[in-house]
Amino acid sequence: MTAAQTVAAAVLESSASPCMTCSFQAEDVVALHMLLEMRTGIEVLFLDTVHHFEQTYAYRDKLAQAWGLRLVNLRAARPSPGLWQTSTDACCAKHKVEPLFSALESYDAWFTGLRREQSPSRANLVEVEPFTLPSGKVIRKISPLARWSMKEVWDYARANEIPLLPLYEIGYTSIGCEPCTSLPLDPSNPRSGRWHGQKLECGIHVQPAAVAESNKS
Ligand code: SF4
Repeated sequence: MTAAQTVAAAVLESSASPCMTCSFQAEDVVALHMLLEMRTGIEVLFLDTVHHFEQTYAYRDKLAQAWGLRLVNLRAARPSPGLWQTSTDACCAKHKVEPLFSALESYDAWFTGLRREQSPSRANLVEVEPFTLPSGKVIRKISPLARWSMKEVWDYARANEIPLLPLYEIGYTSIGCEPCTSLPLDPSNPRSGRWHGQKLECGIHVQPAAVAESNKS
């Protein structure tokens, strides 16, 4: 068993209600494959912002069918298409942060495909950490691939015959919503094509408590 599998297995053993967020990027799909090998039926949360690439929706549906995923599509109650044009912060908050944090209330462990190498904003990522939701509920957040390189992700996908999102073939290195994703602007930073280089995170990986604290100062 690899170190990543050991971390995931230890959490799964003590979790009654695990879930995994999946944007259907390579690391998410690899981490999901790893988890499903250990426990079937884990709920897979997809943040349907209504702004994804057509290719992402098609790939999601194909994989969901092929793997028999328990897919949970999370949408804002009243989506606001185009809100990103006036404020990407408000748009991410409405379409990603709020629906996710609300959904996470139903789980005790939240798996992600995050990796340190993805971005300077993730350089200090740890595999298992407590995550406090806006309600005050604390769940575990687990990123089994935290220390993996992109090569390890691709090697795992190849070894397990996992098809990846076709957008990688045309040069994307990090893939989110279509209006906020371009080819990388800095070859050393895979997430540099997100939000046209204006920000690196949408907010779902920032502790709500930390946001509240920074708003006070
Ligand atoms: S990534 Fe862009 S389109 Fe998607 S929710 Fe955030 S601002 Fe909106």
